[in-house]
Amino acid sequence: MSVSRIAFVSVHGCPLASPGVGAAGGMSVVLRNVACALERAGVRVDVFTGLHGPCPAPDASEPCGQTGGGSPLRIMHIDASDADGFTRRLLAYADAEGAAYDLVHSHYWLSAEPGIRLARRLGAPHVFTGHTIAEIKERAGGAPESAVRKQAEAVAVRESDAVITATDEEAAAVSALFEFPADRVRAVPLGVDSSLFRPTPRLQARSALGLGADERIVLFVGRAEPFKGPDALVQALSLLREPRGVRLLIVGGEQDGPAVQWLRDAAWAGGVSAQVDARGAVPHAELPRCYAAADVCAVPSLHETFGLVALEAMACGTPVAASRAGGLRQIVRENETGVLFEPGSPTAIAAALDSLLGDPARARRMGEAGVPWARTFTWEAAAARLAAAYDGVAARLAAANTASAVN
Ligand code: UDP
Repeated sequence: MSVSRIAFVSVHGCPLASPGVGAAGGMSVVLRNVACALERAGVRVDVFTGLHGPCPAPDASEPCGQTGGGSPLRIMHIDASDADGFTRRLLAYADAEGAAYDLVHSHYWLSAEPGIRLARRLGAPHVFTGHTIAEIKERAGGAPESAVRKQAEAVAVRESDAVITATDEEAAAVSALFEFPADRVRAVPLGVDSSLFRPTPRLQARSALGLGADERIVLFVGRAEPFKGPDALVQALSLLREPRGVRLLIVGGEQDGPAVQWLRDAAWAGGVSAQVDARGAVPHAELPRCYAAADVCAVPSLHETFGLVALEAMACGTPVAASRAGGLRQIVRENETGVLFEPGSPTAIAAALDSLLGDPARARRMGEAGVPWARTFTWEAAAARLAAAYDGVAARLAAANTASAVN
């Protein structure tokens, strides 16, 4: 049983959104790359998402790259102010178009209700990916999440035919948390586009970014919010054994917005303002230059479902200093492609940075080792595993239907 046409429902994450600003992050990167890789593999994907700033077109299309052809990914922006309105329009669209999807895949808890209702309307299987799960975030030390979200995640899992996670560890956690059969949760590791994220000369990258050849650059890439740990990283600067010549380049957040200002204030409080260079978000396609310019990429999150930033850094030949948390423990090969530290501790972060900045030859070796390792994570492999999971769900449900018809 081969699934050939699917709907992605993603109320809150558009594949065309600019990651690093506001709430947009890895989910946009994942949706774009996975959906395009599925298209290239011959699975048609329509994405239903909410209307958002830079995407005024109600019906956009994104060419999916040349490798192996692939038709454009269709992205439908639904203009609705609440979940009910979104669901109504989604169902109306499916009815009007006569869209016969073989399967519906919802992304993030906000999408589960519309996605499940669309699947029911079509008599199609429903697959859910949480991207992050409230209970797991909280247990990692994140701020309390709403009861509404927790309840919605429980319903989303229970009412789905299968759940997709990014790692085996997350698969086990989801299965245990929601008492959901382990054989219906599949881990699909994410990927990195190594034609974009690849090593380039460091000095060239530095000069393009206005950074000095002799500086020691620590890079942070991500949304500037407490769960990602940039404040602990700023505090770590004042604890470095040899702080001279160290600059922390912070990429992400709205330039001069409140999140970036929060980090500037932390730098001021810690007496390290001169070393903190917060530049706001950088377009995804320009990020390789930032990774290439850095001596080390720090990923101090309290938890990461996967760890895309660490993977992108390694693909660019940059060693990683990351929290020993969530997917990062799998993505970063400890003492081979980077070092790991206890999450949330500025002292531990400083020690990890010292160990790389203080031994450039070791850091270079780790950077080089990261490139072939990162290349083993491709979006093509992610799409192939996903397509196999879809086929498995469809075959299981078809067999169950046949059995119930016979009985
Ligand atoms: N990113 C970007 N520009 C920025 C900051 C981040 O393109 O200025 C991208 C980054 O390359 C990565 C994604 O945003 O692919 C962040 O993904 P991650 O899984 O680390 O974070 P989250 O999903 O939690 O935001």
